[in-house]
Amino acid sequence: EQLANQIAAGEVVERPSSVVKELVENAIDAGSSTIDITVEEGGLNLIRVTDNGGGIEAEDMETAFQRHATSKLLSDKDLFRIASLGFRGEALPSIAAVSRVECISSTGEDGLARRIVIEGGTMSAAEPANAPQGTDMIIRDLFYNTPARLKYMKSIQTELGHISDYVYRLALAHPGTAFTLKHNGNTLLRTLGNGDRLQVIAAIYGTNTAKAMLSVEGEHPDYDLRGFVSRPDQTRANRNAMTTIVNGRYIRSFVLNQAIMQAFHTLLPINRYPLTVLDIGMHPSLVDVNVHPSKMEVRFSKEAELKTFVQQAV
Ligand code: ADP
Ligand code: MG
Repeated sequence: EQLANQIAAGEVVERPSSVVKELVENAIDAGSSTIDITVEEGGLNLIRVTDNGGGIEAEDMETAFQRHATSKLLSDKDLFRIASLGFRGEALPSIAAVSRVECISSTGEDGLARRIVIEGGTMSAAEPANAPQGTDMIIRDLFYNTPARLKYMKSIQTELGHISDYVYRLALAHPGTAFTLKHNGNTLLRTLGNGDRLQVIAAIYGTNTAKAMLSVEGEHPDYDLRGFVSRPDQTRANRNAMTTIVNGRYIRSFVLNQAIMQAFHTLLPINRYPLTVLDIGMHPSLVDVNVHPSKMEVRFSKEAELKTFVQQAV
């Protein structure tokens, strides 16, 4: 069990941003309207995600941190199967295997909550607590018991960069959710959660940048698109400034980035990239989200058609 958790942890928890990703996605899944993320020392000392979502039932707290089927990990073939299916129910046990976790969660407004503490996969406390509805996940000393992994961590700035990059994308994908991100006491992001995506863009990239964005829209029998693009004279040195959301999920798509670049083509100076936030809707049958366990990479069934549509809309 311990070994299985550590193997799974190696796949799920590559670095602090992986923890942030899993915890924030759980908070979104729980229907939260506010999600507060606090990080210290690039996430290696502390990652705390507090939400006001549906919470975890007291009797489900312990199972949430257990692997759903340990018998899976018996052969190389099984390892492969897990990698290809994604990590359903793997995130919390994997995180708990390589850190000290404290979780306080309540499903109701009555303040009746449960608190559980797990260190290196071993539970050291489970007791009633008092907390408002929602879940408070506190992850301390990530990789404290896996020194080999800890050694691979880059600088605090690099780890923080991965975290903030991911939180920014999620905030852009969920303008109806109020996010805060704090690092070592400094507030890096505050969104209002009022559904205004331009407010999120302003919070991330600055008010002037947001004001200069152009709105884009597109309709097609299979797709619809809305979003914002920077003017050609306001390009960036970083291709990371292209954010694509498909059916409410932030995704990474080389093909769609190419489509955007081609739309701008002669207007872009060399090594410059537009700042774009595109929200594309399509029938779920047209997109396969299970290509990569992290579910950030997707495959489109009518790729060429989609590419042309995005290029023309932009
Ligand atoms: P998965 O998200 O794939 O189900 P996880 O290990 O990430 O697996 O979480 C296990 C379970 O714990 C979830 O299915 C959910 O029921 C519960 N859970 C985790 N985080 C939260 C949260 N922030 N709010 C409510 N429930 C949560
Ligand atoms: Mg999850």
